[in-house]
Amino acid sequence: MCADAPRFLGDTFAERLTPHLMRLIAKDPTGPVARQFRATAEERRVLPYELDDPLGEADRTVAPRLVRKYENRALLLVTDECLAHCRYCFRRGSTGRKGGAISETELAAALSYLERRPEIDELLLSGGDPLALRTSVLSSILNTLRTRIPRVIIRICTRVPGVSPSRIDTATVDAVRSSIPAWLVVHVNHPDELTGETREAFERFVDAGIPVVVQTVLLRGINDSVDVLGRLFEELLRIRVQPYQLFQADLARGTSHFRVPLERGLAIYRALRSRVSTLALPVYALDAPGGGGKIALDGHAALRNDGASYVIAGSDGREYRYPRERENGRGR
Ligand SMILES: *Cc1c(COP(=O)(O)O)cnc(C)c1O
Ligand code: SF4
Repeated sequence: MCADAPRFLGDTFAERLTPHLMRLIAKDPTGPVARQFRATAEERRVLPYELDDPLGEADRTVAPRLVRKYENRALLLVTDECLAHCRYCFRRGSTGRKGGAISETELAAALSYLERRPEIDELLLSGGDPLALRTSVLSSILNTLRTRIPRVIIRICTRVPGVSPSRIDTATVDAVRSSIPAWLVVHVNHPDELTGETREAFERFVDAGIPVVVQTVLLRGINDSVDVLGRLFEELLRIRVQPYQLFQADLARGTSHFRVPLERGLAIYRALRSRVSTLALPVYALDAPGGGGKIALDGHAALRNDGASYVIAGSDGREYRYPRERENGRGR
């Protein structure tokens, strides 16, 4: 894949920050938190192979807001809203834009699909950010899911503990707790995000008996070093939270400046393996462009390249391509 002249993004993804993030950014205006949340002109550089729907979710949408890529698990986008906008967001085309929370009609349609498919035993809730919903709305959605499809394990994906820890109050924890078996997957990328308040937010869930794991996106100039990731993962273990997935950044439009070349990502990952405890080592994975789902990059995926792209075997046995990029985010 060769990078021709970049196009420029006409419509921009609005900047959105929380008071908590503003305080962190004020302390370190060019630091790792600022770089994740402050919009820059670099986002206007769009490469030809960058995509509006980098994970191919539109093609895998089986009911309103319900995405299914696997036999036994599905993903429900319960809201389009996030409390803060990560600049590398892979759903930047819909985040903060579409209709906000899932409507009753949409939820009913998703539920009738799920009720008729007993092979689906795990439901991921994402968006947007499920914990950005008003607690009463979240609670009502969780109760409906628990009542109508009692068999499913619920996996709630959120960034709220790091961007607005004060939102994690007793009512939020109770809402999640009443829907167990429920797992919480929190998105955290840098040790600077683990402030005292954020640690307390994690602790509330863990103390309530809700298992919490973390997903991290590998981001250039933010956490692309063995030292930063090693510190992050070790700190998470200390607060009883397990690092679970480290993601290669997706091909979202205008995000090439955030991507780490895959070869260097693998080198960092291999060095981490000897540096941190196995408990602290997440799986390094790529969510394959085009809808192949998540593919572990170390060991499982047969990595070869055809010059411009890596060719990787998806879990469905098909081949998926991811560009070989140079450090400046341009194709070769
Ligand atoms: C991430 C994801 C899952 C869960 O995959 P895991 O490998 O279990 O983390 C399921 N469905 C969709 C659509 C996903 O994006
Ligand atoms: S929390 Fe997730 S969905 Fe929300 S802006 Fe960040 S990357 Fe996008």
